[in-house]
This record gives sequence, C-alpha cells and structure tokens, in this order.
Amino acid sequence: MDQKRDYYEVLGVQKNATPEEIKKAYRKLAIKYHPDKNPGDKAAEEKFKEAAEAYDVLSNEEKRQKYDQFGHSMGPQGFPGGGQGGFYASGMSMEDIFTQFGDIFGGHFNFGGGFGGATGGRGSRARRPQRRGSDLRITVKMTLAEIATGIDKKLRIPTNVKCEHCNGTGAKDGTAFNTCPTCHGSGTISQVVQGFFGPEEARSICPQCEGEGKIISQECPYCHGEGVNRKDELVSFHIPAGVQDGMTLTVRGKGNAPRRGGVNGDLLVVIQEIKDPELIRDGNDVIYNLMLEVTTAALGGSVEVPTITGRVRLNIPAGTQPGKVLRLRGKGIPSPNGDGTGDELINVMVYIPETLNDTERQAFESLRDQPNIKPSDSTKHRLFSKLKHIFE
Ligand SMILES: [Zn+2]
Ligand SMILES: [Zn+2]
Repeated sequence: MDQKRDYYEVLGVQKNATPEEIKKAYRKLAIKYHPDKNPGDKAAEEKFKEAAEAYDVLSNEEKRQKYDQFGHSMGPQGFPGGGQGGFYASGMSMEDIFTQFGDIFGGHFNFGGGFGGATGGRGSRARRPQRRGSDLRITVKMTLAEIATGIDKKLRIPTNVKCEHCNGTGAKDGTAFNTCPTCHGSGTISQVVQGFFGPEEARSICPQCEGEGKIISQECPYCHGEGVNRKDELVSFHIPAGVQDGMTLTVRGKGNAPRRGGVNGDLLVVIQEIKDPELIRDGNDVIYNLMLEVTTAALGGSVEVPTITGRVRLNIPAGTQPGKVLRLRGKGIPSPNGDGTGDELINVMVYIPETLNDTERQAFESLRDQPNIKPSDSTKHRLFSKLKHIFE
C-alpha cells in the first residue's frame, strides 16, 4: 500500500471542519481538477480522484468517524464499513465520482445552460466526424485483349476488416465499455474562458475517447481492442473495357476498416497495361507496323497480321505502296464512355532486300529497264499526295 495523503490534508481543511466546509473545499478542488478543464492531464485526474475519495469518506459521518479513529492504517480490506468494492485500493473510477458526486458541481459546469452539464447529450456526440479506414491500392496488369473486353476480377487482398467478435468496437463482446472519465460520456470537452458575462465555454472533441463518450474497459481478445483484424478478403470487381494505362478505378468501401468502427476506405485499382509485343496502342486504335516483302507488294498476296483478338489473314492487293495504311474497322478498343470502338491501323512498309544472291540480282537486273518499274510524274504526284494525306 503506497503512502496515502491524509484526507483532511487533501481537501485542505481542519480536522474539525464542518460538513459544509468539507463540501465547499471539495467543490473547489473538483472544479479546479475537473477533467473538462484539464483534458489529458493525468496528474489533474489523479488529484480529482484523490479529492473525490477524501470527500467520499469525510462527507459521510460514519466513514469519517472510523477514518478519524483508524486512519489509512487498516488498508483497503480492513477499512471498516468503507471499502467493499475496493474503492480504497484502486481509487474511485471517474464514473463512480460522477454518479455519486456529480450534483456537487451544481450550476458550475452547466456553462451557459446550453449543454446538459457534465453528461452532455447525444447531439454533441453526433458532431464527431465519422472515422474512415485507409484506402488500399493494388495494381492490375491487363493485356490489350483484356482491355478490349473488360474483365471481372476476383482477388484475395489482405485487408483490415471489422472484427466480428466485437462488431468492430474493440471492446470485449462489443459491450465492455466505461463512460469516458474525461468527458463523462458527452464525447466533447469544454474549456472555460472568461467572457464578459461570466465564464464561457468552448467545446471540442474529447481526446481520450475521440468523441465516443465511452472507453473500452475490457479489450476484445480477438482484435486486441483495435476493432479490426487482418484478413485476406475476397474482392470482386469489374474493370470496364477501354481503360488506359495508369488509370485508377475506385471500388467503394473495399478498403481497410478503421479502428473501432466507422466507414471503410476504398480499394483503388491502378491499371497497368501490359505492352503488346506487336501492337501499339494509340487511344482507342491499335497500330501494327507491317513489313511487306517487295514481291508481295508488287504481286499481291495474303499475309497474316496480329489483332487484339488473334491473328487474321489479310489480302494485299498488287501494287501496294509503302506508307499505305490499311484499316481493320472495329478491331481496336471500345471507348470507355461507350461511343464506338477503335480500329486497327496497319502501316505498310516494304522491305527492300539488303543483300542479294546471284539469282536475286539477275531477277532485279532483268527488271531494271522494264517500263513499269519507273513511276511517271503523275504517278509520283498521286502517291505523294496520298502519303501527304496520311501524315496529316
Ligand atoms: Zn471522452
Ligand atoms: Zn474485436
């Protein structure tokens, strides 16, 4: 048992003080060390409790008599007539103090009459902003084919989820609460400022209970009072067609649950486009650079080209020029806002052999002076103007 201060000393009164003097002394101390005026101040809280304990004993004639006779010497269990419930050992709880002695504050803590004194009301509690869990962020890699169709994703994501054992409250069975000693359940605290017409009060969210008005008396053993547990949550969501690389989609309410109740954060899905080895995305269109053999360009033929949905055969007309753009309508990517689907554009390049064997050289030599090998002026004009059109 640690050394207790003499109760008369605590209240600052004489041994022969009248009940009225004791009450007055306690009231003075209670107001001075009231938690509303000393938010978060543990020393003040201790003084407040000490005064309440002294007052509890000295304001009761029978207890006071026994205290006068035995002092603190009998210890908690031995304290005659007093300490069942152990108020002596552990001190009084704030709740006890306000239950037993709340009326002693009289009008002193009914600042301006606007609040229901120390107990406050639900109305003031409602001003507490709702807690929100943090957002989760994941990256989903998508191929062009997936982007073209949109996909349904089902993923297991490590998430803070509301503890089901305490319903997210953090208190054992969701019920093990005490009234917050700092705000006595109101969720807000007042600070007194001296105004023209007397004391005025300024209210703010109680720092101890964060506006809840209650504090956990016994922590939920499953979440250790956090109200959340880590869990692999199965989340399903749809990614619509046409999304772009770097785009972020928000899945509302699928983020982390906050500590001790409130609304979930969001799941942020960042799209990462997997670069296609052959197709280049250009908005809703895709581009394919086709290298055509000189023979196919001249003679015509069919080639295989990749598209988002697979390879297709493409007819190449005889006399296809380098720089020509072939268009596969609707083979691009749907617009995310629903207005149409892009095309696949095939840029034709013609490959001129870089080395030739004898047979090839002879073949080209035999063509050198043929009449159709050289373009006429009008042909040049026509083809260049076509290319010009493309480059615009
Ligand atoms: Zn509080
Ligand atoms: Zn829990």
